Amino acid sequence: MPMPTILIDAPTIHERIRAMAAEIEREYPSGDEIHLVAVLKGGFMFLADLVRGMSADVTMDFMALSSYGKGTTSSGQVRVLKDLDSSLESRHVIIVEDIVDTGLTLHYLQDILRARAPKSLRTACLLSKPSRRQVDVHVDYIGFTIEDRFVVGYGLDYAEKYRNLPYIAVLEGE
Ligand code: 5GP
Repeated sequence: MPMPTILIDAPTIHERIRAMAAEIEREYPSGDEIHLVAVLKGGFMFLADLVRGMSADVTMDFMALSSYGKGTTSSGQVRVLKDLDSSLESRHVIIVEDIVDTGLTLHYLQDILRARAPKSLRTACLLSKPSRRQVDVHVDYIGFTIEDRFVVGYGLDYAEKYRNLPYIAVLEGE
């Protein structure tokens, strides 16, 4: 199995997510509830740290989309594997996603969630690879911008492994 090499260490990730949580809270009227929609499986760890940095009223829901399968390249095909449990109507919704790469997944997700009439819809991504973008997708909060490398850890997998790493890593020999 290839060896993971640290690209972004755990303290750096935690500090950045704390700052993102504070920034998000500042931008919503106080007293308003924020509904976070995390994209499984990759978004679970980012969501967990993000919500622990927030003191506003927060609710959460989860969605699963088809992704790359076991390979590392985008097929451009997106399917809803698990839908949300509750309605988004008249709620402040933030999509919480691990990484925006070609942007195809997020573009599709934003379209289908916008059609559910939320009061507002924003997007937070831990990582962005702008050099890989195929569609122009708007992301309101970005944790880190990275080069075109395949990364694992902190929720991100390679063939379902490495999600548990507390840091972002690249795979040597990949
Ligand atoms: P996009 O549709 O923007 O190309 O891809 C988004 C999805 O592809 C992410 O949610 C993630 O599941 C996967 N992905 C994109 N780049 C990487 C990467 O560097 N590492 C891993 N593990 N997954 C990635």
